[in-house]
Order: sequence, then C-alpha cells, then structure tokens
Amino acid sequence: MHANASEEEISAVVDLIHARGLKPLRLPGGDHTAIGIASAISPDIREALADTLRGQPGVSNVVHVSRPYKLASREFHIASTRVRVGEVVIGDGPVVAIAGPCAIESRNQLRETAAAVQAAGARILRGGAFKPRTSPYSFQGLQEEGLRYLREVAGELGIATVTEVIDPHDVELVAKHADMLQIGARNMQNFALLIAAGRSGKPVLLKRGPSATIDEFLFAAEYLLHEGNDQVVLCERGVMPLDRTYTRNTLDLSAVPVLKEITHLPVIVDPSHGTGNSRYVPAMALAAIAAGADGIIVEVHPRPKEALSDGQQALTPQTFAQLMQTAKRVAEAVGRPVSW
Ligand code: PEP
Ligand code: MN
Repeated sequence: MHANASEEEISAVVDLIHARGLKPLRLPGGDHTAIGIASAISPDIREALADTLRGQPGVSNVVHVSRPYKLASREFHIASTRVRVGEVVIGDGPVVAIAGPCAIESRNQLRETAAAVQAAGARILRGGAFKPRTSPYSFQGLQEEGLRYLREVAGELGIATVTEVIDPHDVELVAKHADMLQIGARNMQNFALLIAAGRSGKPVLLKRGPSATIDEFLFAAEYLLHEGNDQVVLCERGVMPLDRTYTRNTLDLSAVPVLKEITHLPVIVDPSHGTGNSRYVPAMALAAIAAGADGIIVEVHPRPKEALSDGQQALTPQTFAQLMQTAKRVAEAVGRPVSW
C-alpha cells in the first residue's frame, strides 16, 4: 500500500482478498503497510487478481513472490523490518547488544549481571527461566520465579528483556513477564510453539536449529509471520559441528549475508552457543558485526565457574565490557553505527 493509504483503503483490499477465498495478512512496516497473500494462487487467476488489486485505491505495487516462504522473503517486502523490543529497535539501524546469563539463578545473580551488561552498553537483558536441557538431571531453570526476577530487575534498571519459552502453554505467562520471546534452537520446528508465539503479540527471537538449512529456518519464521506477527528476529547460533573437540557448534557466519539478502527480517548472532568456549566468543562477536549482523546475543556471568548452566562459554562482566569497546571500533571500521 502507499505510505499515505487510509485505513479504509487498506481494509478494502483485505476484504477483496478475503472475498476470493484467500488469506490476506497485514504486515505493518516502517512507513507503509504491506498486505501478503500467503495462499497458493492458481496461475489462471493470478494475473487477473493482480490487475484488480493494482486498480484499487491506495495500492502502490503488486509483486509476485517466487520463494516458498512468501512473508519472510525480501521479494515481497523489500524494506528491512525493524523489530521493536521495549524501546529498542533491532534491524535497519545501529547494532544492538543483548547480554545476560544463560539461566536466571537468583535475584542477585540476575541483578548483578544486568547492571554490568547495561553499563557496558547492552540494551536488552537475556536470561533463561525455562531451560531446554539435554539431560533431565541438569538445572531446568527457576521457571515462574525466574520470570518474576526478570521483570523486577528490568523494572529497576529500565532495560528490555528476552527469555525463552519452551512450551506453547507457557507463552501467555512468559509474554506477561518479558518484552521478547525466545524460541530456542531445539524448538525451531516446534510448530505448535511457533503458532502460539506468533499469536502472542510479542516480538520473537527465533534461533536456528542445529541442523536446520537456511530454507527450513525461514519456513519456521514463516509460521510466526503467518500468524500475523512480523516482529521476528533471526538468530544464527551455530550448526552441528564436524568436530566437537574445540567448539560446541560451528558458527555459520556465512548465514548472515545470505539471510540479509533473502529475507527482510533482522539477523543477529550468538557467539556463545556458536563456540561454547568463552575464549572464542569475542572473536566471533566481532566477526558477526563485520559480517553485517544487526546485533549479537552474548552470555555473561559474574562468576562463570559457579554458573548452573553454560559456564564454560560465559564472559565475565569485564571481558564483556572490553568486547563492547572493541566491537564499537570494528563497527565503525565497516561503517556501521552501534547502540552503545
Ligand atoms: C540459550 O540461549 O540459552 C539457548 C538454550 O540457546 P540455543 O537454543 O541456541 O541452544
Ligand atoms: Mn546457554
């Protein structure tokens, strides 16, 4: 639709698409609303429908999309999407840093970490309350208690938050306590969870599955968009490694320019799970920014040796602060502003 299309003009186009038995989706963008038709359309009615739509008041352009994930594809939605998390914008702007512990362990641990990462320039606090652990005997997270700490600390410090949801039944609860929902790598194809998160009205951080192709990743994002939620950030966090001797996963940094080209959604990188080793996290965070990522998400713990999960990959507040300084210079070198 044109940037100045009226609500009546937008609704008329939506109704017209509906009347043809197709599914219209409103996608509000930065300065204009796009309307997607996610349904398959037979070739014989395609051109006629396109002509009808072109003749409607307020319509700026009609585009045929050839990629199977129509809503996530940049073909249909050329402008980069900006995702708003609290007051923070991810995508099509300054690089954003998200940081915090792997898991929320106590009110004090979260508060201490949050204050430190915020002072270093992180704009969004991460911290898991529901932890997807490989073993049922590992720490599963403080769950609802952890969510309360997250909300309290965020309120005290005035920082936006992201936390993982692992069960569709908990989406509403998590959405009440956090500014953004995280869907973890191992849940990338949990379709019921994607649908529930898509309907939550909250922005979603979608992590790439450890063995997901780029197309599978974008189909997962399509589930969220298809529920009418265009506030989706993609996160590359490493794929199945050939060799686990040195790194936990293989961080696929080439996914960044590929995704930036084929989708309008913002792309961030998680060098913590991507390497699994705090010694390698800074290098990969810098490389991610140089490669064009819209942000980074980094695990930080005040005492990594005492962490209840992922201590081996956690940066200390000091190392994180140093990384943020260097990251700023790398971003400047490649002509990118940062948000710290
Ligand atoms: C996490 O962010 O703590 C996490 C579990 O990440 P992933 O889903 O990428 O493994
Ligand atoms: Mn973790």
